[in-house]
Amino acid sequence: MADKELFDQYEHALRTIATLAHDKTSDLVSRIDYDVMTPEQCAAALLAEYPEIVRTYGIAAADIAREYYQQERELAMLEDEYGSYDALPANPGAYEWAVEDVRKSAAAGVDMLPGEALRRIYQRADRTIAENARRDPAHPMWAIIPHPGACGWCLMVAANGWSYSSQRAANAQRHSNCRCSVAIDFNRDHPSLEGYDPDAYYDVYDQALQALGGDDGIFAQWDALSPDEQAKYRRSGRGVYDVFKMKVVTAKMDEITGHTH
Ligand SMILES: [Zn+2]
Ligand SMILES: [Zn+2]
Repeated sequence: MADKELFDQYEHALRTIATLAHDKTSDLVSRIDYDVMTPEQCAAALLAEYPEIVRTYGIAAADIAREYYQQERELAMLEDEYGSYDALPANPGAYEWAVEDVRKSAAAGVDMLPGEALRRIYQRADRTIAENARRDPAHPMWAIIPHPGACGWCLMVAANGWSYSSQRAANAQRHSNCRCSVAIDFNRDHPSLEGYDPDAYYDVYDQALQALGGDDGIFAQWDALSPDEQAKYRRSGRGVYDVFKMKVVTAKMDEITGHTH
């Protein structure tokens, strides 16, 4: 069983750092005068500070995740079985991330940037855990732990339960502003964390599916849409109906759990 107190400490520390990055970015965004500045000047002003925010808080997040990994491993007492292991912080291309976020926000609206900053901080922590889980011969299991009041999408991801593949942890489908955390457990046969119940999340998914009349009901909704409306669900790498179904089901899950965005 993963140590609940240790996870809670980690979750709290990570949330604090990510919130600071979010707030710093909000402050940066609010200082830009879009009426006076050209789009190029806006982008330059964002690029002058945003990468540093992502970098500084990202380093702190990676360090906290590294510490969490190390402490959880020490509590599991695996030295005899697997030898000692020194966890390392992940060092992704934080600058590339930052440039990508600024470019995206130039197209989709700069108000999204604080939420993106928060996402990047969590991603760096995710990467740290995933890279160590892959490198360490003890290969812990990992799970995405939804925060209290998480949205339908996050509950659906959390319903997947404990997994071996750290690649999926690294590429966790985090939406902007997502505050879910990744937990690890070295008990590979019976991984668990107090309060984390993937079956309960799956039940919510199933309830939503039933309430929508199952696949037939959802397909009937889809069929009733005009081609223009259907085209709105086009994403690269995923079937357009699957995207629609996911949207409808997770929205229904939000309704069931009372989640509001
Ligand atoms: Zn969510
Ligand atoms: Zn989330």
